[in-house]
Amino acid sequence: MPYLMPNAAPTGEPVTLDEPVTDGVAYATRVDAAQMRAAIFAKLTYAVGKDPAGAKLHDWLRATSLAVRDHIVDRWIASVREAYITGRKRVYYLSLDFMIGRQLRDVSSNLLLDGVMREALIEAGVDYHAMAELEPDAALGNGGLGRLAACYMESMATLGIAAHGYGIRYDHGLFRQKIADGWQTELPEDWLAFGNPWEFERREVAYEIGFGGTVDASEAWDGAVRHTWRPAERVLAIAYDTPIVGWRGARVNTLRLWRARAADPMQLETFNRGDHIGAVADRTRAESISRVLYPSDSTQAGQELRLRQEFFFTAASLQDLVRRHVQQFGDIRSLPDKAAIQLNDTHPAIAVAELMRILLDVHALGWEEAWSITRGTINYTNHTLLPEALEMWPVSLMERLLPRHMQIIYAINAKLIAEARKRPDCNDSMLAAISLIDEWHGRGVRMGNLAFVGSHKVNGVSALHSGLMKKTVFRDLAALYPDRITNKTNGITPRRWLMQANPDLTRLVRETVGDAPLDDLEKLSLLAPHAKDAAFRERFMRVKHANKERLAALILDRLGVRVDPTALFDVHVKRIHEYKRQLLNILETIALYDAIRAQPSVDWVPRVKIFAGKAAPSYTTAKYIIKLVNDLARVVNSDPATRGLLKVVFLPNYNVSLAEVIIPAADLSEQISTAGMEASGTGNMKFALNGALTIGTLDGANIELKEHVGDDNIFIFGLTAEEVEATRRQGYNPGETVSRIPALSAAFESLYAGVYSPDDPSRHRGTVDALRNHDYFLVTADFAAYAEAQRKIAGLWRDPMEWARKAVLNTAHSGWFSSDRAIRQYSEEIWNVPTR
Ligand SMILES: *Cc1c(COP(=O)(O)O)cnc(C)c1O
Repeated sequence: MPYLMPNAAPTGEPVTLDEPVTDGVAYATRVDAAQMRAAIFAKLTYAVGKDPAGAKLHDWLRATSLAVRDHIVDRWIASVREAYITGRKRVYYLSLDFMIGRQLRDVSSNLLLDGVMREALIEAGVDYHAMAELEPDAALGNGGLGRLAACYMESMATLGIAAHGYGIRYDHGLFRQKIADGWQTELPEDWLAFGNPWEFERREVAYEIGFGGTVDASEAWDGAVRHTWRPAERVLAIAYDTPIVGWRGARVNTLRLWRARAADPMQLETFNRGDHIGAVADRTRAESISRVLYPSDSTQAGQELRLRQEFFFTAASLQDLVRRHVQQFGDIRSLPDKAAIQLNDTHPAIAVAELMRILLDVHALGWEEAWSITRGTINYTNHTLLPEALEMWPVSLMERLLPRHMQIIYAINAKLIAEARKRPDCNDSMLAAISLIDEWHGRGVRMGNLAFVGSHKVNGVSALHSGLMKKTVFRDLAALYPDRITNKTNGITPRRWLMQANPDLTRLVRETVGDAPLDDLEKLSLLAPHAKDAAFRERFMRVKHANKERLAALILDRLGVRVDPTALFDVHVKRIHEYKRQLLNILETIALYDAIRAQPSVDWVPRVKIFAGKAAPSYTTAKYIIKLVNDLARVVNSDPATRGLLKVVFLPNYNVSLAEVIIPAADLSEQISTAGMEASGTGNMKFALNGALTIGTLDGANIELKEHVGDDNIFIFGLTAEEVEATRRQGYNPGETVSRIPALSAAFESLYAGVYSPDDPSRHRGTVDALRNHDYFLVTADFAAYAEAQRKIAGLWRDPMEWARKAVLNTAHSGWFSSDRAIRQYSEEIWNVPTR
């Protein structure tokens, strides 16, 4: 075997089930393995053009994907037709990020074709796992926000909602992370290199998107002033459609991603003059819009190209949905009854101004009517309170790039301010806070405020986060519009994060409580009584062990480090960010390492500390954190004193496919952000569902996780959001805290002395100094409580049956975190659309 597959072989059979429920579609998916094999061979011959005898694994992957895809298309067409026939309301989900991951297993499993597909490939002598491994992981997103969009698309199809996702078809998704000498390096990602069997190019669906230019005002026949935007530059948006298959093939919706194309392929005259580069300069400029995803997570990307991306995909999506509406219903004024637009964060917030422009300038509606349609249609999900992540575009840039939109934003602002002035409690600070224009930082447009005022509903993504939104960023706007903010705690799709990632656990669930949890994840609670059953706990932990063996094999293959699958797998995987506090974990690991060496005779719990995650390329501090993990790993893993007791690994290139292998193998889930800073988190939910215990702060959805799994089955530590606020307000002194904690002082000293970086002893001094003098994220303040929680966890690990009981209860009580639950709440409380 040449190398180990990350989606390493589940031990048993794939999940096989009854015939799918259909949306009234008279179409039987039922095929047997022989038929599937024949279909794959036909694709290999006639679509790929290869002789099965000489076909490479890539050819088999393409043929298999195309054969499976055929089972989607009739349902897809039927779903689209059904939406037209019934005239039902559609949901439009606008997101600059979609973290899709691999699709073959997702699609075949949701169509219940997984079993026959694998059988057919075995008969054909193809190694399914090696083949599946070749599928690129579609990473058109940065992290949690993009993965949420992908989970929500799948749940909307599952629940029978007529939904369209809209985003950008980036030529290159999130960079590939390579670790060179312990440092992160970024390589371009090339997911389209071998073509993409899941997408359908729609050359005929093309819209012109304008930038720059001027605005003309003229008097219309009725005396009203009409504005016409005359852009200086036009770019074409071309649609690429990917079908999104719901569970059991319930419904197939469309993810429509836009690619930028120049209106003219080249200037022939320039070319003929011999200027071959100049001839395609405009084209290069236009097409750079969909070239690459901005690798920024929880920070504002800032650059002009990013604003062009945002407007490009928002404007294309709005033109598309308005055209669809008018074509079907004939009257733009019924838009709010037939369409709900959801903005995933502020990246598409310009939709508020663009929809107003379409209604005012193209459909010639009056302001009040246009505003009521806009506000009746658009909704906004806020994902962060971090000031550095709140989007603000310079007024000068907006005026240059989007002159008409800037006029509209000023007009919205004037009306907003006038409205606020009518209130008895109105004052200057309130007006300054609600204004769409920030006057302090060199005049910028606050995209969050624009999205807020233009929306029917504004939601946060966990109970804590929605509460904090009302007290912080949107305090004054919430006072003005008290019913607007609502909470919708995030969720994850159990199809990918349980059934596909953990087929052995899925099988155990079905054998124990039947198939009910497959269609309603909250039925996992039927497992709870079995937590008392020793034989069941044994089986549960055997599944966990098999998953750990697979991860151990992957670690050996990727890093050459041997880890013991019976050790406690302590896992911290997510984007690298100071607020997520990988440093807290690292410092405690150093303290543990010191303690093991100081007292080798103590009966230590063997641990493997597993890290993974990407740092934004310009985020220097985060890159030093990655280097520090790798420096620490080198020292710890080669020290005979701790062999078998402590291992540290950093797995490169964290993405959805890697998460699918790591998460089912975790014993302990690290969710240790500074309280008040992680809006929700979704990693926390995936781990609990797969039977990991959580060590976490009272932050984001951890609070709700604690309520569901029970206080005794989660390890909560540290300052609360309120205490964090108070600690900062009082002027926190980290140096004083450090001096009181010997283990922490020692860790700082060894870092300072270069114990982990002998080749460059001063390398991590900056990190130490920042923590000692400032420590905005309160790593040192929570250190003692965190270390104490880790000791309790070690104590529990010594009682394997008690650990197993708690692990079972985590799985049993995580059903509420299904994205099906979240999407039902959006449907009922924001969109007003029915679900099945
Ligand atoms: C779930 C997921 C995330 C989000 O993780 P958090 O722990 O919530 O930050 C990020 N990246 C990938 C690949 C994921 O699957």
